[in-house]
Amino acid sequence: MKRFTSVIATAAFLLCLVQARSHAQKAKLVLTEAHATHYSIIYEAANRNAMKAAAELARQFKAMTGVDFPIVPASADFQGAFISVGKTPKAERLGLKPEPSGKTTACVRAIGDNLFLYGSADHHDAVMAFLEGDLHCRFFTPEITCYPDCGNSLVAEVDSRTEKVSFERRLVFTDYGLLLDSDWYRHNRVKTWEHFDHPRDWLCHTYSKITPPTEFAKSPELFAVVNGKPSSTMICPTHPENIRRAKELVRKAMELNPGKKLFSISENDGGYPYCQCKRCLDFIHDHGDAPIAAHLLLVNEVARSVADRAPGQLVEFIVYTPSFHKTPANIAMEPNVCMWYCANLPKEKRASELREWKNLVKDISVWEYDVDFSDYFHITSMFPGVVDDLKCYNGLGISGIMLQEVFGVRGGDLQRLRAWVLAKLLWDTSLDADGLALEYCRGVYGAAAEEMFAYYCMVNAPGKASRTIEEHYDRKEFLDRADALFKAALAKTPAECPALKEIETDYLPVLITRANDIFRGFPENKPVFPVEEYRRLLDEITRITSDCNIPKISELVDMPGYLRDRRQLLDTLENNNSSFQVYAVDGRLYNYPRTSDPLAEGQRGVTRQFCDGSWLVQWVLPTKLMHLNRPYQLEAEFRIEKPSISTTAIESGVYDAVQKKQICTSSINGSELSTSEYRFIKLGKPFSISHRGEVYVYFTAPATSDVGSFYVNRIRLSLLADKD
Ligand SMILES: [Zn+2]
Repeated sequence: MKRFTSVIATAAFLLCLVQARSHAQKAKLVLTEAHATHYSIIYEAANRNAMKAAAELARQFKAMTGVDFPIVPASADFQGAFISVGKTPKAERLGLKPEPSGKTTACVRAIGDNLFLYGSADHHDAVMAFLEGDLHCRFFTPEITCYPDCGNSLVAEVDSRTEKVSFERRLVFTDYGLLLDSDWYRHNRVKTWEHFDHPRDWLCHTYSKITPPTEFAKSPELFAVVNGKPSSTMICPTHPENIRRAKELVRKAMELNPGKKLFSISENDGGYPYCQCKRCLDFIHDHGDAPIAAHLLLVNEVARSVADRAPGQLVEFIVYTPSFHKTPANIAMEPNVCMWYCANLPKEKRASELREWKNLVKDISVWEYDVDFSDYFHITSMFPGVVDDLKCYNGLGISGIMLQEVFGVRGGDLQRLRAWVLAKLLWDTSLDADGLALEYCRGVYGAAAEEMFAYYCMVNAPGKASRTIEEHYDRKEFLDRADALFKAALAKTPAECPALKEIETDYLPVLITRANDIFRGFPENKPVFPVEEYRRLLDEITRITSDCNIPKISELVDMPGYLRDRRQLLDTLENNNSSFQVYAVDGRLYNYPRTSDPLAEGQRGVTRQFCDGSWLVQWVLPTKLMHLNRPYQLEAEFRIEKPSISTTAIESGVYDAVQKKQICTSSINGSELSTSEYRFIKLGKPFSISHRGEVYVYFTAPATSDVGSFYVNRIRLSLLADKD
């Protein structure tokens, strides 16, 4: 990959990534002079990790200076100046080794003219500590790396030290462009995604792996008892057959995934009630009336059965469903059990809960998600809160952190700045977040650094005062100021500069917020509707999202669907259009049902659903643009996988999310549908809406349907003439 490298003057603005410490005396090592070096990089022989770390160091020296540093396996009789990586004989002779501290450490030591780099878990950590801390290299994005301005010579002022990591497991779950770029995450000392050290199937919500809901009809006794009746939504964690299965499955998964550390035994998603059978309730009662107690019986049973796999492989449970947050009494967790705490309760409760859990479980990770997943471009002031949380978690002795940001795609507010700053803080929570943000702005945005840092400060000032942006600023003033900052930043950035895409991506939340405000003001703002401004905003959003490859507006809705939805307003205004046609893939999609089908008109992709009763495909009706209390007819275009004789092959409905009721349902007979072509089918009787809040149409197929799976392409909503 081609990299844009910006050479920066050291010390001029860099906040040192090495915290102030007692070693005031720095050793000066002249690593290159007149484009040559007298140093060799030596590494611990027969240690692959040390060899790779040494190669990384040489690669970075070459990129910085153009000089090839020789790499040689360490041998006792080596002569000349050297940089030692790992446990070399030279290091051993001087007694240099990681101090036993219970935490991962990275050591940088200058002794005489020589430099020693070694880590307790990974020597690469020490190489990065030196490159970032002593040479001021910065690996901001896959495209933008900053190196010191070395001129004719590269001089390192080495602060000999041991860095102790704040968290052992560190993941910023963000844009895949960073997470899957092996250089970015290795250089910034965080994990690649890889399901946070779990096998994909054993990440979380694994009850259904133990006993799937498809067994409900045959063996209801394996499922949770809710209100006196079995329910397929959860399993009974104390049932001997479920315990037996869990033991068998987890051992098998551990054997199949020898490189994975964590295997989750955890409740299903959805906040469904836990099992209230007598056996579970008795156990819960005996353990301080904490509902999670019965679940922990299962976790402990499984942990005992796979104790021989520890410490490399551990059994994990999540604290997620609100009722499961309460800590149980009189229970001892097995030593090979760890916990993943989901930070889904108000901040003030988290620390006290974690303190209690820490008495039961030594190894705790936190899953933090302070992002608006319903709108990735919602400008929020939550970042300072995340920074404070990290300091708090470090104080509590938390082992692992997964920070779920806008993930998988480019987008969000200052997404890449946040990712880089958070990666630094996960290594060392004592660093100054604002100082890091300033470094990022200077390194990445170049001439526009001042404006971009001013935007960062403006967005985060309310968070520092525990307020929201809405509480802190007049909305118009905030957006006008943000607009002015971005316009000034863009004016200073030449077209060929890689910062341009970064600034434009960061500008999107402001443009989208403006467009949303105008859209949400309709139809009240109809008499003064700013047509030209609205059109310009949509054009600009379209251009940037296409240039910068921004595919989503939220976790469930793609960018093209959002833009089509917003453009309908222009169509309504200009053509007085009251009927609508969209593609199902532009709606809200759960569990990724999108697929392609050459038989579908338009080639925008279709949705595919199975016969499981779920509502995975929804289209939110354009209620702002519809007439109230007038009749509309819905139609949708379907194809089925297998010929059907079901009288209820597919079902659909219109659900009023404000009044929480169905306002129209329909059931489609299999004989009306085809396997070889898409057919428009009328969905139920005409209906009307009475408000402009959320109303949506959904599609589903019951478990009794024989269609295999079904596809939806276009959806039509047509205004009918009033009967009178
Ligand atoms: Zn039970």
